[in-house]
Amino acid sequence: MYLDKTILEQLMRFRDANYRIENIHLFRDITADNRKLIADIVKDCPVVKARAGQIVLDTYSAGARLYVVLQGALGVTRQADDSNHLENTITQYLPGECVGEISVLDEEIHSVTIAALMDSELLVIEAETLWRLIDESNGVARNLLQLLSFRIRAANAQIRNRQKVGEFYRQLSMVDGLTGLHNRAWLNAQLPGMVEHAHAGGNALSIIMVDLDHFKRFNDQHGHLLGDDALQSAAKVLNAGLRPSDFAARYGGEEMIVILPGTNQKAALSVAQRLCARLAKTRVFAADTDKPLPHITGSFGVATLAEDQDSADLISAADAALYRAKAGGRNQVVL
Ligand code: GH3
Ligand code: MG
Ligand code: MG
Repeated sequence: MYLDKTILEQLMRFRDANYRIENIHLFRDITADNRKLIADIVKDCPVVKARAGQIVLDTYSAGARLYVVLQGALGVTRQADDSNHLENTITQYLPGECVGEISVLDEEIHSVTIAALMDSELLVIEAETLWRLIDESNGVARNLLQLLSFRIRAANAQIRNRQKVGEFYRQLSMVDGLTGLHNRAWLNAQLPGMVEHAHAGGNALSIIMVDLDHFKRFNDQHGHLLGDDALQSAAKVLNAGLRPSDFAARYGGEEMIVILPGTNQKAALSVAQRLCARLAKTRVFAADTDKPLPHITGSFGVATLAEDQDSADLISAADAALYRAKAGGRNQVVL
């Protein structure tokens, strides 16, 4: 930036409206007397030019001055914490607006880098001058307070936005990418609470552990991609066969788990039998053809929460039942 010797008062007389004192946000709605006073204080403030792309203030410098945009536009080029790339909103500062006021007030370093978005002209108000303006004019102090409130609200909105983005990714991290079922992380986060809830309310809770049969062989014979298709089909069968209060999650590889809150052993057994039968009827088709592949089946282990069990015990019980279903010949349900 180089210094333009022209002072504001001269500019105000013959240049366009952007240079009028009442169009500078910091000085608006101010009485005529006050306006004269302000004009007198700022008349010696320099006007500088910034070329497009030129940095006006950066995160390394503490702010001893405030810049008012007279012509052109400034913009935040980089968030202080720009690890969050989704949040790439450019804040623009247009004629009449100012930047750097917070650093002038608290003498801390700037939290953002601000550069000229186009060739711009800026009125420079040194810290000392700003404090004088605050002392002399209630109007300036009031405008500055309003500006700070605006900045706080904008910052809060940004925080809320970040929280929403965080929540989005948290949700995403709880869903299995292949099957669309909840994933293991979700299960680890949710099941203990469900078990506690069931114990506390004296409610039943059952789970079904499902493992696809001879799935390695299926992959070997038909390829991993068709294996993925089969896994997706199996997940759909499980999901479609449940009530809204039930949950299905991918436990790992080709193992899935169904959680049935408020469901006793007898009811859970009948749900598992229904799912087992539906799975055995599901067809997976060879790539780009309508030629059906051999049916996939699954083994189902059912467990119902006992009084002294925690979530790990419940899963172990379902695992043990599943093991017996495998040993008993697969494609079956075991308690
Ligand atoms: P069993 O009836 O005893 O369960 O036999 P199995 O072959 O299903 O059991 P095993 O645990 O030996 O093999 C599981 C296979 O599941 C091996 C692995 O390649 C396959 N598998 C696990 N996850 C995926 C997946 O995401 N996609 C595909 N296509 N295959 C998977
Ligand atoms: Mg298996
Ligand atoms: Mg397995």
